[in-house]
Amino acid sequence: MITLEALTKDYGATRAVNELSVQIAPGKVTGFLGPNGAGKSTTMRMILGLDAPTAGQALINRVPYAKLRYPLHTVGAHISGTAGHPGHTPRTFLKALAQSNRIPVRRVDEALAEVGLASVSGKRIGGFSLGMRQRLGIAAALLGDPQILILDEPMNGLDADGISWIRQLMRTRADAGGTIFVSSHLMSEVQQVAQQLILIGRGELITEAPTLELIKEFTQQVITVRTPQAAEFTGLLVQRGAEVSTLGEDRLEVSGMPLEDIGALAFASHVELHDLSTSHGSLEIAYNQLTHNTVQYSAELAKGAGIK
Ligand code: ADP
Repeated sequence: MITLEALTKDYGATRAVNELSVQIAPGKVTGFLGPNGAGKSTTMRMILGLDAPTAGQALINRVPYAKLRYPLHTVGAHISGTAGHPGHTPRTFLKALAQSNRIPVRRVDEALAEVGLASVSGKRIGGFSLGMRQRLGIAAALLGDPQILILDEPMNGLDADGISWIRQLMRTRADAGGTIFVSSHLMSEVQQVAQQLILIGRGELITEAPTLELIKEFTQQVITVRTPQAAEFTGLLVQRGAEVSTLGEDRLEVSGMPLEDIGALAFASHVELHDLSTSHGSLEIAYNQLTHNTVQYSAELAKGAGIK
C-alpha cells in the first residue's frame, strides 16, 4: 500500500505537487495520468525518497521509503530511461545492485530472463535502444522481487511486442496481490491495463476512480446507426426528439433515444438497418474533458506571463 498525505513539492516559486492525498492499493494496476508537467514524476520521486516533500508525506506500507528495511525487496521502481552506466553490461549493473542490497545473485539471471534481455546480458548498455534500456530498468525494479512496482512511463520506446509484454507483466503481478503504480500519457494503454486511475493536473488531484466508472461517467454513450436511408431516417428520428449527427453517407450518431426505440422506429418505418450499436467514448475523451480546464488554464497563465 502506498499512501500520500497532503504531499506537496515546491521548486522555487513553482508548486509541482499540491496537497496530493491518495492511496494506491494492492491487487491492482493503478494508472497515474496527467498532462506533461502535471507532477507525476515528482510525485513518484517523492514516494521513492529521491526528492524531499516541501510538506506532507509519502508512505510505503506506513513508513517513508528511507525507513524501509529492505527497500528493493519492498519496492521496485523504474524512473524513465536512466538504468545503468553506458560502459556496464546488464549483468554487471544488476549484480552490483543485487550485492549492495543483499539480493541473491541468482536473481540477476532470473530478472534478465523475465524482461527478455538474457541473450544480451554481457553486451554494453551504451549500445542499447531506448526499449532495451526500459527493459533493463524494469529488470532492476524486479530484482528484489518486490510486492510494489512504481513505473514512470514504462511503455516509452517499447514496440508493440514490448508494450503487450509490460502490460502482461503488470497484470500478472497485480493479480498475484502486487501494488502496481504506473504513469503514462498513452491513454489507450492505461485504459487497457489499469483497473484504477488517478488523474492529476497542475500537481492537484482531479479525480480518482475505477477505470470503467470514469469512462462511464465522463464519456457519453453513443449509438451508431448505419442505413442506406440515412436522410429519411434522420428526419424520422429528429421528429421524435432524438439528436442526430451524420458521420458519413450511411452512418448516423444518435443520442437522446434508447437503442430499442431506434430499432422499433426503423422496423415500423420500413427503414433498412445495417448496424445499430452502442459504445462508450474512450478514456482519451474523458481525460481530455477532465484535463481541458487545467491545460487551458496553464496556456492562459503562460500567455499572461508573456511566455509563448
Ligand atoms: P510530469 O511527470 O507530470 O510531466 P513533473 O513532475 O516532471 O511532471 O513536473 C512537474 C512540475 O515541476 C513542472 O512544472 C516541472 O517543470 C517542475 N519540475 C520538475 N522537476 C523540477 C526540478 N528538478 N527543478 C525545478 N522544477 C522542476
